[in-house]
Amino acid sequence: MPAAPARRPPGAPMVYLAAVPPHGAACDHHTCATPALVRVVFPRSRFDADGSPPAPGSWDSCDLHWPAFRDATLRNGHHITDTTGDPRQLLTEFPGWRIFRSDLGRLYAARPGTTVYGWLTAQLRAEIRRWQAGSGPVLPSGPAVPGSPQVRGDAP
Ligand SMILES: [Zn+2]
Repeated sequence: MPAAPARRPPGAPMVYLAAVPPHGAACDHHTCATPALVRVVFPRSRFDADGSPPAPGSWDSCDLHWPAFRDATLRNGHHITDTTGDPRQLLTEFPGWRIFRSDLGRLYAARPGTTVYGWLTAQLRAEIRRWQAGSGPVLPSGPAVPGSPQVRGDAP
C-alpha cells in the first residue's frame, strides 16, 4: 500500500493585497484593457538576478476578469486581503442594509427595493452612500438582477 505522498506546497501561501486601482488603470488580462476595478499587490519571487530586493508585483483586473483571477489565487492556496476594510464594518455603518458576499467574491448591500455591489469594501461603501445621497440604484431597475446570487446569509 503506497504511502501518501508528502504534500509539500510549492511555496508558502502569499498574501495578495487587494485595493482600488488608480483612476485610469486598465485590466492586465491579455487583450482586455477595460477599466480595472481591483488591483492586487503581491510579493514577487524571492530574489532577482541582480540580487536586488524583489519589487512587489501588481495585477489589475476588470469586472469580468477579477472573479477568475481571485478564484485561481485562492485555489492555489494564497490569501487575498481587502485592504480597503472589512465588509462587516458596513453592517454597523449602514443599519437596515443586508451585506453579503457571492460565491464569486462580489460584495452586495441590499435593502427592500435596491441592491448595490462592489468587489471591495470601499467600493460597496461608496455605492451605498451614492444610493443614500439620492442618485438612486446603480443597477438598472427591474424585477431582478440577472445572475444575482442566492442569499447565503450575512457577510462572513
Ligand atoms: Zn479584463
